[in-house]
Amino acid sequence: MVARQLRYSAGTWLELGHAQLLLDPGPGTLLRARRARPPLSPERLSAILLSHKHLDHAADVNVLVEAMTEGGRHQRGALLAPRDALEGEDPIVLRYLRDYLDRITLWEQDRDIAVGDITVRPVRHQHGVDTFGLVLTAPEGRIGFVVDGKLTADLAQRYNGCALLVLNTVLRDWNPDIEHLSFPEAMEIVQEVRPNLAVLTHFGMTMLRAGPRKLAQKATEQLGLPVIAAGDGLTLNDDAWRNPGAEATNVPAAM
Ligand SMILES: [Zn+2]
Repeated sequence: MVARQLRYSAGTWLELGHAQLLLDPGPGTLLRARRARPPLSPERLSAILLSHKHLDHAADVNVLVEAMTEGGRHQRGALLAPRDALEGEDPIVLRYLRDYLDRITLWEQDRDIAVGDITVRPVRHQHGVDTFGLVLTAPEGRIGFVVDGKLTADLAQRYNGCALLVLNTVLRDWNPDIEHLSFPEAMEIVQEVRPNLAVLTHFGMTMLRAGPRKLAQKATEQLGLPVIAAGDGLTLNDDAWRNPGAEATNVPAAM
C-alpha cells in the first residue's frame, strides 16, 4: 500500500487544546502537511508522537524533527517514542538531530505524559517491535488511537472512555500469522469501547478490495454507532465526535 502510494501514508495531525501534535510521520508527511489547505506548519508542532519505528509510520520522523526545529535553529518540541526507536541496533531517529529537541520521552505502559494541556497515556501493543497505542485526554475529550498490533486480551479495555476511537484496520479477515487487527477484531473493540465515533484507517490490500466504506456502513448498522472509513486527507472537527449520537453524515468528506 505504501510503496505503491495507493493511499497516503502521512500520519495524523492533531489540534487539541492549545497543542498541535503529529502522530506517526510516515512517508510523505512533510509534503502532505505543506500541501494541505490551509497548510499545516511543522514549526508550530508541540510534539511528534511515534507509535513504533516501522517505516510506514516513521520514515519522515527525522525530516519532521528538522522542520519542527527549523533545522535546529530553534531548540523546541518533544519527541515521544518507543525505546527501540532510539536505542539498540537499529534506531530510526538520527543521533545528530536529537539535541534539536527540547525533550525526548520514551513510552512506558500506563505512564502518563503531559504535552501542554493534553495528557497522553501509552498502551502497549504486540507488533514485533516496541509499539504503543495512545489515549489522549484533551479539553475536547478523550481520543484513542488503536495502532498496529494484534488483538490481545485486555486491549479494548485500555481504550475505555474514548469518545473518538481510531483503529488501524489492516486485514479484512483474521490471520493468526500477522500482528495486525482484522476488521472483525476492530469491530469487537468498537463494540466494547462504544465511542461516539469510530474511524477505520491504515487499510491493507484485503480491506481496500473489500471496500472500507461499505464495511463501515455495515458496522454502523450492526453496532448502532457511527463508524466511518478514513480517506486521504480526512479532516474531522470535534463536533463530529464530542456528542453521543453524532451522525456519521455530519463528518466532512475526505478530500
Ligand atoms: Zn507496523
